[in-house]
Amino acid sequence: MLVKRSVMDEVGELIEWLASFGKTAGGGVTRLLYTPAWKEAQHALKKKMEEAGLQAYFDSIGNLFGRLEGTEAGETILTGSHIDTVIEGGKYDGAYGIAASFIAMSRLLQQYGAPRKTIEVVSLCEEEGSRFPLSFWGSKNICGRYGLDDVKDVKDADGIPFLHAMQTSGFSPETYTSAARRDVHRFIEMHIEQGMVLEKNQNAVGIVTHIVGQRRYTIRIEGESNHAGTTPMPFRKDAVSAAAEFISYLTRKAKELDPLLVATVGRMEVKPNVPNVVAGEIEFSLDIRHHKKEIMDQFCADIFTMLEKQSEARQMEFSISQWMDEDPVELDTEMAEWARCIVQKQGTPFQDIVSGAGHDSQVFGTFCPTLLLFVPSHSGISHSPKEYTALKDLEAGVALLEEILYKIAYK
Ligand code: ZN
Repeated sequence: MLVKRSVMDEVGELIEWLASFGKTAGGGVTRLLYTPAWKEAQHALKKKMEEAGLQAYFDSIGNLFGRLEGTEAGETILTGSHIDTVIEGGKYDGAYGIAASFIAMSRLLQQYGAPRKTIEVVSLCEEEGSRFPLSFWGSKNICGRYGLDDVKDVKDADGIPFLHAMQTSGFSPETYTSAARRDVHRFIEMHIEQGMVLEKNQNAVGIVTHIVGQRRYTIRIEGESNHAGTTPMPFRKDAVSAAAEFISYLTRKAKELDPLLVATVGRMEVKPNVPNVVAGEIEFSLDIRHHKKEIMDQFCADIFTMLEKQSEARQMEFSISQWMDEDPVELDTEMAEWARCIVQKQGTPFQDIVSGAGHDSQVFGTFCPTLLLFVPSHSGISHSPKEYTALKDLEAGVALLEEILYKIAYK
């Protein structure tokens, strides 16, 4: 008797199988763009797509697609996530989105045959920016925002040029043609939350309404180094004390302004960094995230005005240099509503959620109607071998994705 495998078995097996490419001794996964583990995974996945009856192909930079041709020409619905990981990452980040899309599509094909609209599962070549100092290489190529010119001077930490790495993994810059797509009308990504909101609220699915914008700065305050014993407090130009005042202010302000606003000072360098010397200089990072641009504008204007006033009062110099400015992205409200109706019918506990992390969906979100869905991350842990999502939650995600694809491509 033929025993039909459950979705739970299928998704569990596929996750473990994908994790075998780039498996580390610490139980994690390291699958960096254009490395042997990456190449092996993409080619094995291509074979799997073909076995499932999909037309599998690579674009010129290494995004892998499995196409299920629709009876109506024109629009393509793209669904998937990224195959690359961070160094010593987990099994689920990115991989789950590919596994969920592949299983949902295979099941639809088995049950209903060809769809009305073409569906493609995509294994995006790169999202994390873990090997080269650039992120979203896969999705930004599809959306026409990146091309070869953007990487011609880019090197990894070992000094290997981007184009050389690309060449050695089988994607020759000489045969490059633009990977931009005009036929992609919708993008749907299933991803682990990488936070603890869903688990805390005991929800199995998160429907992402926005992906936060991110601003990053390096701030430097210049004071005057002096003797810690002989310089009276009123005459000091203490850079650490100035930074402490500023950081307490911005932390309090972030809490007051909006409960979803986050501001982080995570790196700090003090000069001369000596116990018995008043610090003459301090440099620190500032990371600000929120899903509404107006809130970020208001916050930045407020805290930087405070820094200016404070520096004037202390007679100290400061500089602010911004090195990241990503606007927040609002995702498609119509598809989000379809998702809510489906999970309600399926009896799956769910909630709306804002993504505090970046995803390929933020690139697609300004290109075509985009839906991003989350399943819980145990204890919110991600980018770690300890990353874990329960099988029942992985299954609920696949069930939702299958229904969404059915609604869009078959009905
Ligand atoms: Zn990811």
